[in-house]
Amino acid sequence: MLRLLALGVAGGWALNGALAQPAARGAAPLRRKRIIAIDPGHGGVDPGAISPDGACEKDIALATALEFARQLTATRRYRIVLTRGADEFVPLHNRVARARARRAELFLSIHADALPDRKMRGLSVFTQSAQASDREAAALAASENRADLIGGVRLAREPRAVANVLMDLARRETSNLAIVLARDIVDALSRVVVLRDRPQRSADFAVLTAPDIPSALIELGCLSNRKEERLLQRPAYRRKLSRALVRAVDTYFAHAAG
Ligand SMILES: [Zn+2]
Repeated sequence: MLRLLALGVAGGWALNGALAQPAARGAAPLRRKRIIAIDPGHGGVDPGAISPDGACEKDIALATALEFARQLTATRRYRIVLTRGADEFVPLHNRVARARARRAELFLSIHADALPDRKMRGLSVFTQSAQASDREAAALAASENRADLIGGVRLAREPRAVANVLMDLARRETSNLAIVLARDIVDALSRVVVLRDRPQRSADFAVLTAPDIPSALIELGCLSNRKEERLLQRPAYRRKLSRALVRAVDTYFAHAAG
């Protein structure tokens, strides 16, 4: 790993925390705070999904992200990077760049879905995969990736910084850790809220493409469902969601370091 790290730096890119950890594992335990990037979906000109009552996904995502950040900070184990802290438009690749610049060890994108079938409800968690796990996940990724289009950003992906074997190795390790992360989120949340059928899925999300930060996108619930629309607007419900998400993050680090 040290050799991999040295090669990475020499190759012009630095490995972030999750991949650098094993190299440091032999050292005396440091009470260093973990850095978590929280990404409230949408914002500014991009409202995201809109509920029948006119509640916007961007507002629910931001309110939940702020509460989640507050609870993580209160544990004194985590330092938080918010990709946006106000109602502003931030292009998807800038969100990833902000998290990487601050050396985040996890990237959690917070969203709330809307589905054509208003009876559908529940939370689901997505990881990055060029091949979607199913048609609905592919459609969701396409819809989430439209954020840039709404904000006037060209949809072309950022070119890969370094396209080589080393980067592919890093990507594979990151993607394995992202799957552990998604499973820990589903486990923790299943005890407190309703989950979608098959709550853990994957698709090609532009905001989950950091090569060296395990990333997941959480759809907190369906704004198209009356009951869930009301729940997501309640601060008490968002506090409950956040408490479970903090447990998921704790469990993930116990797994990733073990
Ligand atoms: Zn969204």
